[in-house]
Amino acid sequence: MVSRDIMRSTTRSFKKYYSPSIKNELRLDTNTNVLGSNPAAMRYLKEQRIDLNDYPITYSDNLRCALASLHGLETENFVVGSGSDEVLDISFKTFTEWGDDCLVPYPSYTLYDYFAQMNGGSVVYSDLTDDFQLDADDIASSKAKIAIIASPNNPTGNCFRQADIEDVLARFKGIVIIDEAYGEYADDSMIPKVNEFDNMIVVRTFSKAYAMAALRVGYAVANKDVADMMNSVKIPYSLNSLSEGAAIAAVKDQDFIKKSKTMVLAERPKLASGLERLGFEPFPSDSNFILARSPIDHASLTAALKEKGILIRDFGSKRRMENCVRFTVGTDEMNNELLNKIKDILEELR
Ligand SMILES: *Cc1c(COP(=O)(O)O)cnc(C)c1O
Repeated sequence: MVSRDIMRSTTRSFKKYYSPSIKNELRLDTNTNVLGSNPAAMRYLKEQRIDLNDYPITYSDNLRCALASLHGLETENFVVGSGSDEVLDISFKTFTEWGDDCLVPYPSYTLYDYFAQMNGGSVVYSDLTDDFQLDADDIASSKAKIAIIASPNNPTGNCFRQADIEDVLARFKGIVIIDEAYGEYADDSMIPKVNEFDNMIVVRTFSKAYAMAALRVGYAVANKDVADMMNSVKIPYSLNSLSEGAAIAAVKDQDFIKKSKTMVLAERPKLASGLERLGFEPFPSDSNFILARSPIDHASLTAALKEKGILIRDFGSKRRMENCVRFTVGTDEMNNELLNKIKDILEELR
């Protein structure tokens, strides 16, 4: 057996990411759009007659231009990449030095630790308050080089208070990444303020509300200087031509995004009260998923649901999320199926 000592020291302890074996289960574990594939992107792909012999446009200028008109900004404010995960990686690569501290709230998205450490940084955590809000003083006074904040936060589901985010941006000395992976479902966004805070990078994705996770498209919005630094570090051509074209088509079909948001806003409170009736304690959500404390053992619930054909995400062994699981908000029909199956599981255990 080859010893892991052969690896770069900063990556030796890495484990592979969540990778469940999938049969035909209903996926309420990844927070993608339950309405299915983005229709405009799908139409674009079906009509494609692309020349595979051409490189993509180096920095995906056509997509950056479409995003600029969507957000009322300029092409130069945007960096696009293969998934927002690449854009997060670019942010760390561009702004952190080997050995720098990277501040991550806890609990939050687990991949932040990975990007920080992969780029030679050490992670320092700032615990969220009891109601899962930012400890703005703690973050603002940190000496870290970079801070990363997801709002809405994953896996807790809630947005942070806009005033706290702005307080951190004003006082924190380094770069602050605001990950708005679920921003389409929330009321507030920091994107309109990219020219107000020159240390801010807002990151978004086409994997969630846009319903095109398979194509791997994400983007960062920042002031032009910061965006230019990031584009100069990014691997050229990292976004393939088909994904770029599909994303442009998707940006132009905002009706699908509105419809998706309307569905989530209607179904989320129904799912939350259904869970409450079964003895769960759901946390408040501003996104298309709900974190809830389970009345029975988290691992048994997750396994029993998988057995019955539904995947959910188990966070129950983690600090602050003891016995919690996360459900993507489904359609009315999916949520009823989920609630009925949970009811059966609770009865079988009695
Ligand atoms: C799903 C998710 C992402 C998306 O990553 P992609 O690489 O764009 O698919 C980023 N941040 C958070 C918090 C997420 O939940």
